[in-house]
Amino acid sequence: MGQFDGKVALVTGAARGIGQAIALKMAADGADLALCDLKAEWLEETAGKVKALGRRAECYSVDVSSAAGVDVTVKQIEKDFGKIDILVNNAGITKDGLIMRMSEADWDAVLNVNLKGVFLFTKAAMRGMMKQRSGSIVNIASIIGLIGNPGQANYAASKGAVIAFTKTVAKELSSRNVRCNAVAPGFIRTKMTDALSEEVQQKMLANIPLGRFGAPEDVANVVAFLAGDASGYVTGQVISTCGGMVM
Ligand code: NAP
Repeated sequence: MGQFDGKVALVTGAARGIGQAIALKMAADGADLALCDLKAEWLEETAGKVKALGRRAECYSVDVSSAAGVDVTVKQIEKDFGKIDILVNNAGITKDGLIMRMSEADWDAVLNVNLKGVFLFTKAAMRGMMKQRSGSIVNIASIIGLIGNPGQANYAASKGAVIAFTKTVAKELSSRNVRCNAVAPGFIRTKMTDALSEEVQQKMLANIPLGRFGAPEDVANVVAFLAGDASGYVTGQVISTCGGMVM
């Protein structure tokens, strides 16, 4: 018996990195998976691994920042699976640069994916959750949204706003037994962080009390806790998953 037996989980940005680890943890705990990313074919690896765990996986192409695309996708998922129990808003991007040199396009791109995408998927999925009087939404923020970071004004603003949005959703939906929480990862080894120079990586490592970078699975375990009944009395919270970088 898994904690998510009979549950349907939707994960955005599930093709790789943290999103893939979250999908696999959910599947290992019994959930069926609706996997979303920009291109459905990129999701084949994740879907294959979910199916190998004995769970159902369907893949959907969607840009999380497109209102029309998100609406159509959530309707299709509800048709295919009959319901959505868990929504994990994980898709996110970076376009780093000092504010003085940051283009409007880079500001808009990051806010559109990291913040508007969370709004659109939440709005589309919450209707069904409110009707069924149960649901759990987990947003992937970042410790950068709590502490800021030079060169990441757009990213920090988007993730800080995701935290404020999380608390508002929690307050609006509590009466319908729908919870909403956020995870704020620190430095997690994925393609996103592999792009940083060795020098930057070593500087970050020096500031991590637990003395190691995180793995996508470290985040997935916290997401599973927040998505499941073990956290049934937890809503509107942010759990930093950062090896103690922020405390
Ligand atoms: P990643 O390896 O870059 O994976 C992100 C996934 O999201 C990719 O598959 C990406 O597709 C997809 N995606 C990007 N834009 C999208 C869009 N508009 N619509 C649909 N899907 C889209 O990143 P990650 O490191 O796993 O990060 C996952 C989440 O954790 C993000 O929200 C990130 O901000 C957050 N986070 C990560 C870290 C870290 O250290 N890695 C730390 C704190 C927070 P593409 O292949 O097209 O890019």
